[in-house]
Amino acid sequence: MAYTYDDQNIFAKILRGEIPNDTVRETEHSLAFRDIQPQAPEHVLVIPKGAYVTADDFAARASDAEIADFWRCFATICADLGVTPDTGAGYRIISNAGHDGVQEVPHFHLHILAGRPLGRMLNS
Ligand code: 5GP
Repeated sequence: MAYTYDDQNIFAKILRGEIPNDTVRETEHSLAFRDIQPQAPEHVLVIPKGAYVTADDFAARASDAEIADFWRCFATICADLGVTPDTGAGYRIISNAGHDGVQEVPHFHLHILAGRPLGRMLNS
C-alpha cells in the first residue's frame, strides 16, 4: 500500500522555510533540528528532505544516497553531541509510526534522545 503524503504537515513547512527551526545539521538530503518540546536534555529530530511518511516508507522508497545521507547525518550528530556510547554516555533513537506508534507529524523523523539516563524503553 502506498502512503499519501500530506504536504501541509509541520515538518514540510519547516523544510519549505515557512516555520523557523533550531537547526543542528543540514546535509544534501537531511535536516536535523531541536524538538520544540524536548523530552531529554538533548532531543534532536532528524528528517529526510524528501516526502516520506514513516520509517518503512523511507526505507522502501528512498534512494541509496538519501538513506546513506540520513544515517550518516544521524551518526555525525551523535558524535557532535558527545553521546556515542564510547564516551560513557549513550542515546536512544525512536521513530513513531502510525496510529499505534502514536505518530503526531506524518513526515518520517528520528528522535535522538540523550543527556540523562532514559529509563526503560516503554512504561505502558
Ligand atoms: P511524533 O509523535 O510524530 O513522533 O513526534 C513529533 C515531534 O515533533 C514531537 O516531539 C513534537 O514536540 C515535535 N514538534 C511538533 N511541532 C514542532 C515544531 O513546530 N517544531 C519542532 N522543532 N518540533 C515540533
